[in-house]
Amino acid sequence: MRKIKKEVVIEVKDLRKVFRLGKEKVVAINKMDFEIHKGEICCILGTSGSGKSTLLNMMAGLEKPTKGYVKILGKEVTKMNEKKLAIFRQKYIGFIFQSYNLMNALTAIENVSLPLVFRGVSRNRRKQEASKLLKAVGLESHMKHKPTQMSGGQQQRVGIARSFVGNPKVIFADEPTGNLDSKTSDEVLQLMERIVKEKEQVLVIVTHDRSVTKYADKIIHVLDGNIQSVEIVERKEEINNEIKKGEEEIKHEEKSV
Ligand code: ADP
Ligand code: MG
Repeated sequence: MRKIKKEVVIEVKDLRKVFRLGKEKVVAINKMDFEIHKGEICCILGTSGSGKSTLLNMMAGLEKPTKGYVKILGKEVTKMNEKKLAIFRQKYIGFIFQSYNLMNALTAIENVSLPLVFRGVSRNRRKQEASKLLKAVGLESHMKHKPTQMSGGQQQRVGIARSFVGNPKVIFADEPTGNLDSKTSDEVLQLMERIVKEKEQVLVIVTHDRSVTKYADKIIHVLDGNIQSVEIVERKEEINNEIKKGEEEIKHEEKSV
């Protein structure tokens, strides 16, 4: 099989984070190096306290490292000031949280539209875009529902729709299925997988739940702030390539007809 060199979207280099609590020092991230490529679903897997959220927060520029850097699309997010970061995030990054983080006073469609308000998108286009995504996550009949009028799984699907609004290049998810039962969790992950693969985005999922890794192209095992191993799921890569090859063959056949 021919290997195609894929575009690096996220680069983590020599990353370290030490928290100081008075005299106490907590090494949350000791030293980490890895890359994530275009179209990849990457799972960062580790037990509670292993440093996953700290790592994700640094990747998203929410926290500054003690040492090292994170580059996204070649830009060093760990160096940006608040203003630059805010603009960068609006443009390129989506978030999914364990606790959904929806605005309780807003309806589903208003929640999904919100990121576009900050981007200055017109009211009509916001409505269009948000309803398209809510349909994609199977919530066509719940557009006017508020978070308290929806189940956990439905709320998380709103969260997913919101994270994908405006076509971000990278989606970060911190324990996105942590509050869901296993059936709903599978539905939510399949949904994310479908959107990410269709648009060749990057999805980084932080989790302690082994079952989430069946959707991953790359699994980064972490323990006590260190990477234990990086597992590349080749089988899935092969399946994806087969699909691509099939699609190309169909296109080719269509042309020659
Ligand atoms: P995980 O998400 O894998 O459960 P975290 O990244 O939340 O792990 O935490 C890793 C370690 O860093 C833990 O020991 C935690 O107590 C510590 N930690 C995280 N955030 C802070 C903080 N703001 N101040 C001090 N210690 C922290
Ligand atoms: Mg965490």
